[in-house]
Amino acid sequence: MDSLDKALSGSRLNLEEIVALYHLPLPDLASAAHQMRLAKTRPDVVTYLIDRNINYTNICNVGCNFCAFYRTPRQGDAYTLSFEQISQKVSELEEIGGTRILLQGGVNPALPFSWYLEMLQFLKKHHPTIKIDAFSPEEILGLEKITGLDALEIITRMKESGLDGLPGAGGEILEDAVRLEAAPARIPSADWFRILDVAQGLGLYTISTMVIGFGETLSQRARHMIKIRDQQDRALEFHGGNGFSGFAMWTLQTEHTRLHGKAPGASAHEYLRNLAVSRLALDNISNIQVSWPTLGFKVGQVGLFYGANDFGSTMMEENVVSQAGGHDRVRVTEREIIRHINDAGFTPAQRNSRFNIIKYPDVQAKLGQPEPVLRAKLETALNV
Ligand code: SF4
Repeated sequence: MDSLDKALSGSRLNLEEIVALYHLPLPDLASAAHQMRLAKTRPDVVTYLIDRNINYTNICNVGCNFCAFYRTPRQGDAYTLSFEQISQKVSELEEIGGTRILLQGGVNPALPFSWYLEMLQFLKKHHPTIKIDAFSPEEILGLEKITGLDALEIITRMKESGLDGLPGAGGEILEDAVRLEAAPARIPSADWFRILDVAQGLGLYTISTMVIGFGETLSQRARHMIKIRDQQDRALEFHGGNGFSGFAMWTLQTEHTRLHGKAPGASAHEYLRNLAVSRLALDNISNIQVSWPTLGFKVGQVGLFYGANDFGSTMMEENVVSQAGGHDRVRVTEREIIRHINDAGFTPAQRNSRFNIIKYPDVQAKLGQPEPVLRAKLETALNV
């Protein structure tokens, strides 16, 4: 039995079998990944989230080589938003029917732990219906160093103050050889998993992530997926089923960074291949998201036939990936997302951050006469 048949039969792939997938013809890989997606998730539905990214500070002492976002405290455009400024952005999200904020910053050593707790309390008080998914394992590790507290104490107190989720940003490739090359001071992979395990144990929302294009080997990519799969097994068994709600993968952007010209990045072709492999390798994660902010809406639509079942979110603003390049637009309206999903031949459904469907928008009212064409063409081409 080859790797594709084994995956489609529901059997778990080992390292060698995952690596073997990368060498298969792309249409074969896409066909299997799409079949798997249709079997594991609602086949006619593609979900999306109305949310807003808010980067509360760009001051950071980690200094990743691939980051064009961070500043030192002395740089003229270094900033930390006030609670009122953050709240104003949340109000703008509420006006368009949004349900959550993704609040992330640099690791700013000038901000005491109390600042984070007070900020969460302030936002919950003024925006009680908005879910707050915030901070990366890197920011929690920074707070461990500042406070001397451990992640369990820090995240517990954050949860008591209003934190709903701890997204798994900063995953990149969870192989320390790759991480050391790209960002020597970056959080080690063991700490990334340790902190997310704590968050999952406390019942918080989490998501798993991956970034390709550092020059990592196919084995390193496969090991990254296996580590995420192992953590998901652990979380599902020991944390009452509260594992990663989904998986998001995108391509490295290096413009204006020290890695520019040094890391190879990844093409749309490579992205789609990796997307399909992840659908087949991550057998215990149902929801897989496309990345239109790095590769554009068209690649995002095609990704819906390479294993993905989610079109991401409105974001409203994004400052970390976008400052290093990527698609020329990181802001999209709900109507546009609905149009892209509908044009691809799927039923759009608004979800919350845990991938539960909140509502089905009235496509006719939003778009006029929908004429989906892409799905029939692509599924015929893929023999699905
Ligand atoms: S990626 Fe995050 S941790 Fe790294 S330098 Fe940028 S803001 Fe800091």
